[in-house]
Amino acid sequence: MSALQPVRGTRDLIGEEQRRHLHVIDTARRIAATYGYDEWTTPVFEDTRVFSRSLGDTSDVVMKEMYTFTDRSGDSLTLRPEATAAICRALVSNGLTQSLPQKVFYAGPMFRHERPQKGRYRQFHQIDLELIGSSEPLADAEVIACGWDILQALGVAGATVLEVNTLGDRPSRDAYRAALVDYFTAHRARLSADSLERLERNPMRILDSKEEQDRRVVADAPTIGAFLTPDAAAFYAALKTQLGRFGVPFRENPRIVRGLDYYGHTAFEFVTEALGAQGTVMGGGRYDGLVEEMGGPPTPAVGWAAGVERLAMLLAETPSLPAPVAVVPVGEAAEARAVEILQALRHAGIRAEMAFRGTLKRRLERANRLGARAAIILGEAEAASGVAQLKDLATGNQVEVAVAELPARLA
Ligand code: ATP
Ligand code: MG
Repeated sequence: MSALQPVRGTRDLIGEEQRRHLHVIDTARRIAATYGYDEWTTPVFEDTRVFSRSLGDTSDVVMKEMYTFTDRSGDSLTLRPEATAAICRALVSNGLTQSLPQKVFYAGPMFRHERPQKGRYRQFHQIDLELIGSSEPLADAEVIACGWDILQALGVAGATVLEVNTLGDRPSRDAYRAALVDYFTAHRARLSADSLERLERNPMRILDSKEEQDRRVVADAPTIGAFLTPDAAAFYAALKTQLGRFGVPFRENPRIVRGLDYYGHTAFEFVTEALGAQGTVMGGGRYDGLVEEMGGPPTPAVGWAAGVERLAMLLAETPSLPAPVAVVPVGEAAEARAVEILQALRHAGIRAEMAFRGTLKRRLERANRLGARAAIILGEAEAASGVAQLKDLATGNQVEVAVAELPARLA
């Protein structure tokens, strides 16, 4: 029979890859907690409308990338392509719109039917941070600062640049959209087929196109600055001031629009040159209209999502497991005592291993193969008198130690 393969665009995480992956998530979780964020978990699949309503009918995600299927009850379900819409759905479903702000950390798999390549998969993982219920630019800055701290803690901040932009308020965007339509209409002959369609449905999206042909047209397109209302301009100025107070370096990039429809005011991305075409490691912004789309009251919110695989690829080294201690009994009476020692070490938080069989020589060979830092060698006589030989496997030094003292000695 032929061996089965993982589905295209999916990956198994084993060994070093899993450790890198977990290190990203654990680090993010720890830092988010210091900012007062609480972790949520929502289902992997949702009513399709959770995403079709929120992400916008014209977003790439909704038009081309969603895993949507009809289940056996005839309901249209979608494997979540992102977390923010699901979190807003959960906020409303759980009656939390009156208990604001909610500060949510999230980590989990997401699904998008994209062309798989390095740093781009069909099942990938995100960490997410969402601050729901605050409308001040200080909230946006704090959310970005938390992201920056996570990148710092991972040791990858130096490989990234924070780019910020404003998408203004509704009147700013309407004026800007009109200017973009004029500009792109004048240059329609140079646009890709996809962007011609975007021109009809959502012209701002053209700014986000990854096609070289579009990017050349986009390079000379008007930017939003000239169309900002005084309120929107003040919000953006305040964001930049606050980022300075948090000590987060940034540069402005008026081309950032983000891929999803629900953003306004702040939009930002941490980008890197280290991952080829998949240059965005973290992206987010303000999405004041989304909770309302989910059937809740108007609620301001800001957040970001980052790709765990992309961050894991940027890590300079793989976090290593602590080296174990090997327990090595010699003879049957010693084996009984050895299990007690093994468990005492584990219960003291020490990684400890014991082979299920084998001679002294075999067991020591195995301890070396495991990279054990020490071996506890226990003969019949020692077992009877409550002592063991503690052998440092790096130096070869061996000393006699009372069994009761082993956990403290090895901690
Ligand atoms: P891209 O421009 O790379 O397609 P995006 O704008 O679609 O990204 P978001 O929806 O903002 O991405 O998701 C946040 C982050 O999730 C991205 O910055 C990226 O790190 C990661 N990400 C998005 N799609 C994928 C994917 N298919 N595979 C791996 N990581 C992804
Ligand atoms: Mg995308």
